[in-house]
Amino acid sequence: MFVGNDFKKSEYWNCFIVKLKIIRMNFTLPVLAYTLSALQPSISEQTMAFHYGKHHQTYVDNLNKFIVGTPYENMSLEEIIKSAPDGPIFNNAAQVWNHTFYFEALGAPGQKAPSCKAIEEQWGSFDAFKDEFSKAAVGLFGSGWLWLVEGQDGKLQIIAESNAGNPMRKGLRPILCFDVWEHAYYLDYQNRRAEYVKNLWDILNWEVILKRF
Ligand code: FE
Repeated sequence: MFVGNDFKKSEYWNCFIVKLKIIRMNFTLPVLAYTLSALQPSISEQTMAFHYGKHHQTYVDNLNKFIVGTPYENMSLEEIIKSAPDGPIFNNAAQVWNHTFYFEALGAPGQKAPSCKAIEEQWGSFDAFKDEFSKAAVGLFGSGWLWLVEGQDGKLQIIAESNAGNPMRKGLRPILCFDVWEHAYYLDYQNRRAEYVKNLWDILNWEVILKRF
């Protein structure tokens, strides 16, 4: 029981705590380092408006909705991805993370293939790596993600994950990902996924990607 000022103080702190909790549980859509039209002609402004502005935003909104009142409410995205069972919370958390990782590694067209010792050691040349990664991206059945990851043995691997799959769930460290859900390319390429994958290499921001090694 609180009297006079004590009550007011307690009410103030309760409100403050509630406010903090609301701030904490809300994941937000990350701001892009480029404009929606910056990735043209590989990816159109219209695709970005839907993919980033609608799809990515919806995953963020759904995640914020689904975690209320669950143990995931106060976890980081990474913690949710590693611990949530298959289902809506995992799917939306992973899709938020995957899209953030994907968009973060894109940039203005005309990026040059990097000199990357780790890739050259593993595949012989950057072109050989690019070829294997592209074939796997085109060959992934249905919706999913293509990943370049580092295993616990320090070796690089190319892996495909269906739907919202994220390699951190298997103890692998993500370095690069291609979104091959149809929503990533259908407006620009319709069924021509191979063309989308080919043009994606032109807009990779290697400054960002090389820092992830
Ligand atoms: Fe997507």
